[in-house]
Amino acid sequence: MINKSINNCLILSIVLLFACCSGVKSQSVKSSDAQTSRPNIIVVMTDDMGYADVGFNGSKDIITPEIDKLANGGTICTSAYVAHSFCGPSRAALLTGRYPHEFGSQFNLPANSEESVGEGIPLSEKFLSSVLQESGYRTGVIGKWHLGAVEGYEPKDRGFDDFYGFLGGGHNYFPEDYVTKYNQQKAAGNKHIWEYLTPLQRNGVEVEEDEYLTDELSDDAVRFVSDSSKNDKPFFLYLAYNAPHTPLEAKEDDMQKFDHIKDKARRTYAAMVYAVDRGVGELVAALKATNQYDNTLIVFLSDNGGRTDQGANNYPLKGVKGDTYEGGFRVPMFFHWPNKIPAGKKFDYPVTALDFYPTFASIANAKIPQDKQLDGKNILNDLVKGENPRKGEMIFAMRHRNGFSDVGVREDEWKATKAYNSPWKLYNINKDMGETTDLSKQNPEQLKSMVLGAQMWSKKHTEPRWFDPESLREIWKEKKMGEFINTFKISN
Ligand code: CA
Repeated sequence: MINKSINNCLILSIVLLFACCSGVKSQSVKSSDAQTSRPNIIVVMTDDMGYADVGFNGSKDIITPEIDKLANGGTICTSAYVAHSFCGPSRAALLTGRYPHEFGSQFNLPANSEESVGEGIPLSEKFLSSVLQESGYRTGVIGKWHLGAVEGYEPKDRGFDDFYGFLGGGHNYFPEDYVTKYNQQKAAGNKHIWEYLTPLQRNGVEVEEDEYLTDELSDDAVRFVSDSSKNDKPFFLYLAYNAPHTPLEAKEDDMQKFDHIKDKARRTYAAMVYAVDRGVGELVAALKATNQYDNTLIVFLSDNGGRTDQGANNYPLKGVKGDTYEGGFRVPMFFHWPNKIPAGKKFDYPVTALDFYPTFASIANAKIPQDKQLDGKNILNDLVKGENPRKGEMIFAMRHRNGFSDVGVREDEWKATKAYNSPWKLYNINKDMGETTDLSKQNPEQLKSMVLGAQMWSKKHTEPRWFDPESLREIWKEKKMGEFINTFKISN
């Protein structure tokens, strides 16, 4: 009897020891998976930043030393595009991997859309964050959302474990200003307070702030990557800065760095960009301090072109935010990943933010649903080898205006542009980045083929689910804008 009990004890101990060892073993496999095979992924996105407003793209008056260090330690994409020339649709494309026109999200969600629209990016579109989350990534979004401000469409509903920021399309920067205004209006019984003034939130809970907005977002990015280092999972961080989007509001300390800039708007804008740069420096320091720097892919971009009437500079590109000229949707971009992506290189072939979805999913070894439609491609190997990922393939942009649509098409060295209801034009964009010399008469077949390509693409578009401004709803109907009656006519 005693012997039997000793035997049982012994067997139990062996079983426990075995369970314990195998537990340790499986944990160590997981840990090595997280730390070596699957990298962390960070997207740093600025808002309305011009092509020439970072040092690595040639800025002379704005200094961005931290961003430049990363850019020069990685590969700078000189022909990088976003899928739309303004905020909401560009972000929708990044996270869905599809042109926003294909699921009715070709307009910005209007301000306070929770009241007027009551929905967000259709739930039929599975976000990149969901795919990464399901594959075991810890996912976070910090900053501007702009993809749906109602229950069911918020970050937590779209594959993000962690959210800090604001749900609308923009925000004021100084809490002593916006909190005061918000409280005054609330006290006065205003139920429709402008979204730029609403308190920031963390996962649905309002938080009190006392710092300049850009600094709050940077601090939270540092918190997120530091917390993540204590976790076995790799992480995906989408850091969507509001800067340098209007309102132009900068800290005095940052402004003083740019005394040499005479124009007040440009000086303020420069200081706002510099605040982002300081933040990126802190983020990099946090990655290094937690030993995650080498295993983290950092991709930097702007969500669309800059507003030259609000301090931005898109030189040498023509056009501004909202245009289908290059200045509207060709943006500063780089990829930084030590020992994986070449350092000190420039990559001149066209890439697009639509490529992030398949590229990141592949890097993360994450499963994309079989029926998921994607408009971009995995560009990692081409980026590493310096090869063209889309020879003979086109990248599109379309922006709807009052009664007509602007279109931009990029294919290899060619750019076809229809802007402000004027005839289609064709440029050799490698030689003529500023779109100055129309070559359509010399190359009619090339233009025809690109316009046809855009027309075929437009057949995939669906009716807008919302309009911004709302007045476009009537014009859209009245002018039958969805039929593109004159959009693809070439008149020479
Ligand atoms: Ca924007």
